[in-house]
Formats: sequence, C-alpha cells, structure tokens
Amino acid sequence: MPDASGSHDSALLQRVHHVVERVRTAERQFGRKPGSVMILPVSKTHPTSDIKTIVSAGFTAFGESYLQEAEKKIATLADLNLQWHFIGPIQSNKTASIARLFHWVHSIDREKIAQRLNEQRSANLPPLNVCLQVNISGEESKSGVSPAQVHDLATQVVKLPRLRLRGLMAIPVRSHDFETQRQAFHAVQEIFRTIDTEPEISAPDWDTLSMGMSDDLEAAIAEGATILRVGTDIFGPRE
Ligand SMILES: *Cc1c(COP(=O)(O)O)cnc(C)c1O
Repeated sequence: MPDASGSHDSALLQRVHHVVERVRTAERQFGRKPGSVMILPVSKTHPTSDIKTIVSAGFTAFGESYLQEAEKKIATLADLNLQWHFIGPIQSNKTASIARLFHWVHSIDREKIAQRLNEQRSANLPPLNVCLQVNISGEESKSGVSPAQVHDLATQVVKLPRLRLRGLMAIPVRSHDFETQRQAFHAVQEIFRTIDTEPEISAPDWDTLSMGMSDDLEAAIAEGATILRVGTDIFGPRE
C-alpha cells in the first residue's frame, strides 16, 4: 500500500509528465522542433525531497528565486551535480554568492549587477550564462530593463568576459487570454531578433528566450521560447 509520501511523489510525477505532454503538443502545433523547448522546473518554496523526485523523472536543471533558500538546497543536493538557474530579482549584496553557486542568471536588469557578477565569477568556473530581463509590459512595480534600454545593456554585458550573454527573459503581465499572452511574447521575440542583427552587440551565444510559465507556456512556445520556467504546474501551489 502506498504511504503518504509515495502518493505525494506520484502526484508530482504525474504533474511533470502532464507538463511535458503540453510542451510536446505545443511544439507540434506551432511548428517548433520536437524537444527543442527546455522545461526549467522552478522549485522555489518547495523542499529538496520534491526536487529529488523531479530529478528521478530526468530533470537536471532547476530555477530558484530566493538566494538564502537556494544556498541551502544547493548544498543539500551537491552530490547530484544539478544545474542551478537564478531567476529572481538581484540585490548587489547577493551577487558574490550568485556568481559562486549558479550556472545561469536570467534576471540581469542593470549594468552594475552584471559588472559585479563578472568581477566575482571565479576563473576556475566556466563563464556565467546570463539573460537580460526585459520589463515587456512596462509595469512600474516589476523588475527588468525597459525595451528602450535593452540594446544599451546588451552592448555593455557582451563585453564582460566572465559572463556569457545568452538572450532575454521576460514575465509579461498576467492574462488568461491566449492572444494577449502571445502579443507580449511576440514583442519580446522582436527585441530578441533585433539584437541578434546588431553588429555592435554580436553576442556569439545569443540563443535563449526564457519566457512562459505555468499559465502561458503554450503562447510562449508559439513565439519562440527556448526555456520555460514552470513552478506551480509541476510542484503544485506555493504556500
Ligand atoms: C515563480 C516563478 C516562476 C514560476 O511561476 P509559475 O506560475 O508557478 O509556473 C517563473 N519565473 C519566475 C521568475 C518566477 O519567480
């Protein structure tokens, strides 16, 4: 007879398989190459036991937003050699730890933070993969560089040798309407393509569009997302 934790784990596995199915279906529907869209499970607020369950389903990269919480989990799970993505807002006094512990940072939104990460990334580690977070819906309360300033930021960040500029991240304002969701992601894709053609930026590894979460991942796939950051629909609701 399954115990309580067994049924908790099987519910988790069922949810993650359902998300994989949604992603594969959307890839087919929108003419994306099968398997080309990466699912990044966002484990913030969820325990390391749940991360291990998702690892058992074949996932090796996880997203976290809160540094203190992430530090503990990364230490606890060190044996698993997981890849950690920092996706939350960054205060300057946190950059040293982020530069030491993470493989990716999705949420660069100002030059000062990029410079600090560049200075603090150890020469013993590969360059830190970074995306620039764009405030696509122009919400005053949200972090992210404005669309008008993202070119300038990219021009600065691409020069930093300990950072590897990969692309853009965005969190559009919540909407339950597919076309509205799609318009916002389309605007991010347009910025992504424009920067790709800028000779003074010319980032050699410009290949990542980190957009789409539990509620809007199909629209993001339709507009070229390469990494989906999925929390709730994999791990369940956050307290
Ligand atoms: C929490 C979080 C997510 C996951 O959101 P869900 O709606 O739970 O899928 C994605 N991206 C960022 C930046 C987050 O902070």
